This record gives sequence, C-alpha cells and structure tokens, in this order.
Amino acid sequence: MREDYQRVYAEVNLDAIRSNMDNMKANIAPETRMIAVIKTDGYGHGAIPIATELENLDYLFGFAVATAEEAFILRHAGIEKPILILGYTFPYSYERLIEEEVRMAVFREDTLQELSEAVARLAKKGIFKKAKVHIKVDTGMSRIGVRPDAEGLDFLRRAYRTDGIEVEGIFTHFARADESDKSAANKQLDLFKSFVNQIMEQTGIAIPVVHCSNSAGIIEMPDANMDVVRAGITLYGLWPSSQVRKDIVRLCPVLSLYSHIVYIKEIEEGTEVSYGGTYKADGVRRVATIPVGYGDGYPRGLSGKGFILIHGKKAPILGRICMDQFMVDVTDIPEAAMGDRVTLIGSEGQHRITMELLGELSGRFNYELACNIGKRVPRVYTKGGKILSTKDYYQDF
Ligand SMILES: *Cc1c(COP(=O)(O)O)cnc(C)c1O
Repeated sequence: MREDYQRVYAEVNLDAIRSNMDNMKANIAPETRMIAVIKTDGYGHGAIPIATELENLDYLFGFAVATAEEAFILRHAGIEKPILILGYTFPYSYERLIEEEVRMAVFREDTLQELSEAVARLAKKGIFKKAKVHIKVDTGMSRIGVRPDAEGLDFLRRAYRTDGIEVEGIFTHFARADESDKSAANKQLDLFKSFVNQIMEQTGIAIPVVHCSNSAGIIEMPDANMDVVRAGITLYGLWPSSQVRKDIVRLCPVLSLYSHIVYIKEIEEGTEVSYGGTYKADGVRRVATIPVGYGDGYPRGLSGKGFILIHGKKAPILGRICMDQFMVDVTDIPEAAMGDRVTLIGSEGQHRITMELLGELSGRFNYELACNIGKRVPRVYTKGGKILSTKDYYQDF
C-alpha cells in the first residue's frame, strides 16, 4: 500500500458493487430497470468511481442524488445517464440543472413556475431544453410530495400545462419496507398504484417512469418493481435493517477500512488507558495504538466495546476512542508489532467486522456510519484485485 495511506485508508471494491447490482437485478422483473442511489458521495464510498463503474449497465436507468451539487460533480466527471435529485432543489440551480438534463423531484407549485421561467431564460440564450421532472407523491412518509388525491391530480395537470416542463416520472418512497411486517409498506404501495391508475383514467396520461421501491423493497416486495427501482444501501453490500431477509439477494460488503499499528507498550496492573481512565488494566497488558479516531468517522460509541482484527485475531478496544487515535489490547496476539496492518472494517481469517456490527456496538445506524467515514480517509478503488484509482480530499485539490 502507498506509504502516504498507511495511517488509514478505505478500500472500495468495485467488483462487489457490480455483483451487488447484478444480484439485485436478478431478483426483480426482467423489464424493471434500476437507479443507483449515490447521494452523500455514494453513502461515503465515493459517487464518481461508482457511477463510472455502473454507467454502462444496460439495465441501469440512471442515478439518484440528494442535491444539485451532487448532480453537477457527476456531470463534470462525464456521467451521461439520467440523474434524479430526490429532494427539493432550490431555484438558483434550475438553469444549470435544465442545461445538464438533471431530473428534479417536483411537488411545489412555485417550482413549476420557476422552472418554466428558467427554461425561457435559457431559450433566450439559445439553449432549447425542457425541464425534466419526476412528480413526488407522499404516501406515508409525510416528508415531501403531493398527496395521492385530488390535490395531487391537480398538481399533475398543472405540471402538464406549464410551458417548458416534461413530466418524465412519478415516484413515492416507503417508510417501513425494511420491517418484516409489510402491512404499512403495502398500504403505501396500494395508495401509489391506485393514484397512478386514477391519473390514467381521469387524464389519459401514462407517465413513462413510475417508481417506488428502495433496497428493502427490491429484496422483499416483488409487487413494487414497476418501471424502475432505486437501490441505495444494498448497492454497498449493506442491509436496510436486521429484519430484512438475508437469503434472497446475495450482497457483498464493498468497503474495508485499514490502518497500521504505530506504537506498542506494556502496561502494569492498575494502569489506566485513554481519556477518563474508563479502562484500568487488571494485570500486565500489551497495548497497541491505532492512529484513527472519531475525526475519521470511526464511532466514539465503540469506546470500550468494539474490536479490530490483527493477524486474523480480535483485538478489543481499550478505553475511549480519541479524535485521532485509540488503543487495543494485543496481549493475546504476541506476533503483533509496530507497522502491522490492522482491519477496522472488513474480514481477516474467519472473522468479519461489518458496518452493521459496528452500528450495533456503537448504537448507531449502518447507513450513518458509512456516510460519516471522513474526508481524512483516502479511498482506494479496486477492480480485479488491482488498484484502479484513489481519492484523497487532502491531496486531490
Ligand atoms: C435514500 C433514498 C433511497 C435509497 O434508500 P435505501 O434504503 O438506501 O435503498 C431511495 N429513494 C429515496 C427517495 C431516498 O431518499
């Protein structure tokens, strides 16, 4: 490994990304296409290399992100497939979004007017493009979206009547598809389906791209396939929740986190370790220092609870995780030496440390842990066992 990445690096396995996508695709209807959800920089894994890896898959409709800027960097990196912004977008970005053919979720009347004006301004500059939108329907999240009733129907009619707008899609989002009891999710699905039917019956409009499923839906709700499904957490080989069945779609974790031991010392019985002295040695102990901390997104909640892998063995965390360092017990790993590589997330020997396990131990959510792996951690992208590229926020500027 690169000397400058010895402190810490995250290895992102692009083959695993690809196989997770293929395995999900195999579990949905043949005609259903997929959207790869790569918001928050691809759940912390890196949106650009992942989009580049997936862009040419024929079953991939496109990508979804959360903000205008997340869309712009993908276009800047040469990504050409449709990009959908899932949340609200602010008017400052409309001209550029239209020009770059980024699809927006719409659900506010004022957005329709603003978009129409942006289309007209672009036309004056000689750029003739429509604003492509996906209507967001709220069927149970109470987050964003129009209601699936007369109000929603009225909004849809307005969208069709507004100059410069092209309604490409309509979608909703499940609040509880990751629970083993699917009654709440099925209720949302029924509401959405009957709304889409109602649109057909009352306006004659067949919206081209109808979608609602997230990762949990892809795995467990075949009735929710429709035109496309939106794969988020599962793309990264992580599970939507502990209740989702793990025997339907084979997923492989994509990210591993590695560091190296920078110091080893022996401490006497009664010696305290780290801030607050929450760990006190009950005998002579051999302690290794790892130069990673919560400043890198390694959760402080693992203080005194988690473990890492060294030479295929578990080394328990001693005392509190600091911002940039923490200590582990290597008394039972006599071969551990300064400079040895250690695994914080990933597998060694017969042991595996998953994001889900770290979530359980630290009392946090696996989605959140992935998103929070910090900028100080360089990402190393591998394919076919070889390093394809790297991303380091402290060096690539
Ligand atoms: C984040 C998000 C997804 C992806 O959810 P996962 O549970 O990660 O699959 C899909 N749709 C919308 C609207 C989202 O906000």
